Amino acid sequence: MPVLPLPTPGRVEVEQWVDAHLGHLTLETDVAGSTRFFGGQRAADAALQAFDVAGYAARRNEVLPVGRRGASALSPWIRHGLLTLAEVWDHVADGPERDVRKYRDELLWQEYARHVYARLGRRTAEGLRHERAVVPADGWDRSMACLDAVVGELESDGWLVNQTRMWLSSDWTVRHGGRWQEGEDRFFQHLLDGSRAANRVGWQWTTGVGSSKPYGFSRWQVEKRAPGLCATCPHERTCPIGDWPDDAVETVAVTPVELGKVAGPPALAGPLHPESLGEPEAVWLTAESLGDRDPALVAHPELPVVFVFDAPLLSRLRLSAKRLVFLVETLAELAEHRDLEIRLGRVVDELDGRRLAVTHAPVPGFAERSSVLDVVVRHPYPWLRPPHSGSIRSFSAWRR
Ligand SMILES: Cc1cc2nc3c(=O)[nH]c(=O)nc-3n(C[C@H](O)[C@H](O)[C@H](O)COP(=O)(O)OP(=O)(O)OC[C@H]3O[C@@H](n4cnc5c(N)ncnc54)[C@H](O)[C@@H]3O)c2cc1C
Repeated sequence: MPVLPLPTPGRVEVEQWVDAHLGHLTLETDVAGSTRFFGGQRAADAALQAFDVAGYAARRNEVLPVGRRGASALSPWIRHGLLTLAEVWDHVADGPERDVRKYRDELLWQEYARHVYARLGRRTAEGLRHERAVVPADGWDRSMACLDAVVGELESDGWLVNQTRMWLSSDWTVRHGGRWQEGEDRFFQHLLDGSRAANRVGWQWTTGVGSSKPYGFSRWQVEKRAPGLCATCPHERTCPIGDWPDDAVETVAVTPVELGKVAGPPALAGPLHPESLGEPEAVWLTAESLGDRDPALVAHPELPVVFVFDAPLLSRLRLSAKRLVFLVETLAELAEHRDLEIRLGRVVDELDGRRLAVTHAPVPGFAERSSVLDVVVRHPYPWLRPPHSGSIRSFSAWRR
């Protein structure tokens, strides 16, 4: 496959670039970026500087009006390594004690999800404790004002507050019996922060397949978190979610997954110190760690940098163009100060024969690809907490 031309920074220019080079791989036929988020280190750093944690604990669950929200909306940049959890952790240090504690708890949830994924990998696609009986379900009822507003935001911004992620996942599976994995895929296609690690933990916990109790979504939460929205709904007087969903979960046996203490470190955790087997000739950048402060980029400032759009993977996933615009905006900015090459094809073919330095990514796809490539220098993944071999049965067991 050819090396792609370098993109020019700018939303319109990047959308045109994605349309021309990746448009055959996107979910939508019309390529458009997120109405809210921009890729790139400058946007990430500006968003972090602008975030004030004061009020987070009281307002993190608010939905509407948007001005009442306390969520930081940093997740797209966190997801792609433009902001590490440690940087965000440090940024809030001077905030009010209650808000700092709550916010750091949420950062630890992200780290927990990453640790679960590093230990279990693709097994997280199955219920960790049990599975639910399912019925065919097809999406959310957009004639309801609450679901319409939230699905609309997912599709236009590529982002949702945690509260509305819980509404949608509960509605899909707990109320309507839809297969949680299909809902998770739907989220994954649209979310700029979509990760199998956090998305699967979120769905497993909300729908109860990985936790002891499912989350019930009903009108009550809409009135509390988005006051006034129900008054605009055609179903206001005959609300189909007026009552709690029946949470008598019909469970299906699954092969138990090992969540207790294990013998060694998680299979996908990677090294805790840089490992070197020789002289690299290029830095391989992955979508897990795209920031200017990526450890491999920083350690090898003189080397060219290569990023590969994984054509078979994108063809299978059919991600929203919003995600690709976000990534290309990041790459366009990087190309302003690094010698960057962007390729499209099978990762192992595109990088074949090159001696690479890379930052480890604790995901199965990276393990498979890097094992057949000539990776001569591997930098550790920037963990907030080093992965351990203790119990991951629950968040509280994990953090002990
Ligand atoms: C069904 C479902 C699916 C989800 N899918 C994803 C996903 O694909 N990617 C993703 O990053 N998060 C996911 N989450 C977790 C959470 O909803 C988002 O991280 C959060 O809403 C992002 O917005 P924020 O940056 O404003 O978060 P804030 O509330 O400002 O929190 C700051 C950071 O803490 C972390 N965080 C917060 N809440 C959680 C949580 N419950 N679990 C894990 N990390 C958390 C994120 O890194 C977030 O950016 C999901 C949650 C649910 C219930």
